[in-house]
Amino acid sequence: MVVPCLVIDAYIAPGSDMTQDNFIEQINWVNFVYGVPLQGNQSPNPCRLDIRWRFRNAQGTPVMAPLTGPIVNENVFPCAPFELLDPYFQAWLNYRPTGPGPFGGTNTRDIAVYFVKGPLIAPAIGCAPFITPNGPAIVISNAPSGFLRSGQTLAHELGHTLGLAHVDDRNNLMFGGTPSLESYRLTSEQCNIVSSSPHFQSCP
Ligand SMILES: [Zn+2]
Repeated sequence: MVVPCLVIDAYIAPGSDMTQDNFIEQINWVNFVYGVPLQGNQSPNPCRLDIRWRFRNAQGTPVMAPLTGPIVNENVFPCAPFELLDPYFQAWLNYRPTGPGPFGGTNTRDIAVYFVKGPLIAPAIGCAPFITPNGPAIVISNAPSGFLRSGQTLAHELGHTLGLAHVDDRNNLMFGGTPSLESYRLTSEQCNIVSSSPHFQSCP
């Protein structure tokens, strides 16, 4: 059977302080927020997305594929439309090498996540979506600590990538101000929007 799914390509650039454990923690939070139907998932949100992670190790666990060049090292990363970025940033955001795992080849419906050293232009930790010729991209820079390191930034930027705008409710994932531990709700209207994203593809 073929089902509609989102596929995410995760990359880690030199200088990012993401660890494999933190990566898995972030995946778990994204799954919780978007109601990915996994065993024991108790998401309070009505979305039921099928989110897959393209790159995997020999055990089948999602991993980040390493990038070998200095994406966003000394430069401050601008959170601006892709067309307005200089060629250095455009080239990096459009770079999607094949990663590890049986389905490591990427396609233009995939959503790329680049974990970078940063900084982004303050106070942002994440920025999205960059609409590149190779598909949408999310950039996450090194975060100070706490829940912003635990997937909240990724879940929020994924929301933008799937068509969501900011809202005023501070308990909502898309709250435009400084989020708190409670900022993870999604309404059924928001779930309808993300479910009709053009980035869905067919998964076995
Ligand atoms: Zn935002």
